[in-house]
Amino acid sequence: MDDTNLLRYSRQIMLPELDIAGQEKLLKAKVLIMGMGGLGCPVALYLSAAGVGELILADDDNVEISNLQRQIAHFQHSVGMNKAKSVNTTLSELNSSQRTTLIEFRMNRSDLEERIPPTDLVIDCTDNLESRYLINELCWKYGKPLISGAAIRWEGQVSMFDRSVENSPCYQCLYPQENTMGETNLNCSENGVISPLVGVIGTTQAMEAIKVITGIGQGLVGKVAYYDAKQNEWQKFSLAKSANCPICST
Ligand SMILES: [Zn+2]
Repeated sequence: MDDTNLLRYSRQIMLPELDIAGQEKLLKAKVLIMGMGGLGCPVALYLSAAGVGELILADDDNVEISNLQRQIAHFQHSVGMNKAKSVNTTLSELNSSQRTTLIEFRMNRSDLEERIPPTDLVIDCTDNLESRYLINELCWKYGKPLISGAAIRWEGQVSMFDRSVENSPCYQCLYPQENTMGETNLNCSENGVISPLVGVIGTTQAMEAIKVITGIGQGLVGKVAYYDAKQNEWQKFSLAKSANCPICST
């Protein structure tokens, strides 16, 4: 590691659990962030600031004025710009040595089959179930850890799924497809969301990502961390693998 990086990441390197070896792991990591909205913005900002070497930023939407209330990596001058491009512009000012790959279109199965295998980790910041099921299926198939977050109204949750951990459930164990596909997707445009909530949840996803990459602490595999903003309360629930899950139990 050169002197610039030693200085830039000094406050992290001085943590005995992390040290230079942990920072080197972060600098070598390649993380795919799916969605550059309320969750994806703080995830990208913190992972870039923390020195995650390569970020793949994926979003096919453009920035709208109604996004600025909570999607903190986009600015007024970015309205109308693709969200992945907008976040990339912000990151280039935060950390000019940040390596990024932009995906400005909606990825289908074959696109994801190509993009997921070379990554170390996938962070799901999307807002629709169809994408979430597909990302889960392919992360499981290729054995990539998946950190999933969701935030709506005043509540949010974070969980992690990882085939390499014995008895890990998957996203579909949490939300079986047959029970949810008929329902309307809960999204912010129809239900509203309080601004800092997406920061709390996205930042927690970034924290879990750093823990996975460096191997520090206890991850959220087999657990759902649920946050209630009105009560300012976190609760952790256990999540068991579903014996009938078509993704992880066959
Ligand atoms: Zn499952």
